[in-house]
Amino acid sequence: MSIFPIVTYDHSGLRTPAEPIPENNDGLPEFIDNLFDTMHQAGGVGLAAPQVGIPLQLFVVDADIMTEEEDGTKHGPGVFINPEVTPVGDEEWDAEEGCLSLPDVREKVTRPYRIKIRYFDREFQVREEEHEGWYARVLQHEFDHLKGVLFIDYLGSFRKRLLRGKLQNIIDGKVETEYLVVAKNADR
Ligand SMILES: [Zn+2]
Repeated sequence: MSIFPIVTYDHSGLRTPAEPIPENNDGLPEFIDNLFDTMHQAGGVGLAAPQVGIPLQLFVVDADIMTEEEDGTKHGPGVFINPEVTPVGDEEWDAEEGCLSLPDVREKVTRPYRIKIRYFDREFQVREEEHEGWYARVLQHEFDHLKGVLFIDYLGSFRKRLLRGKLQNIIDGKVETEYLVVAKNADR
């Protein structure tokens, strides 16, 4: 078991579009286990490979703790390789999001309510599913990480301006976390 440090705001790893993963990738099962360990240790419900500085199209999710409380649904742990997410219908909704790479930042984000996701699972079997509500939100948030997108990118300029101080604190490594992080300007 290895725990990776999580890269935080302004780290170039969060802005680098991730590469597709070829089938028969030897190190993949171990990497996936380590991603789960890192996510669980950090108390997150989702973690994308770019958040540990690895630019691959892969994220893991274990969101039952959130979805059961928020809308009473259970999904179990999921591994999503080379995913593609597309909205289904026009319905959108707002909810507050956070991110292990943006400690202390929580903001309301508008997203499609229902999505379709096509991906390869841990056994590299192709799957296609539709999800809605909180689980769909988590999947969209993680999918964004594979494109170098953060949830704060959806905020208006006024909200972004209010966040400047918090973001600078993250860059400077001044935010306390209960998990290992890599801050861009911190002396570690
Ligand atoms: Zn995130």
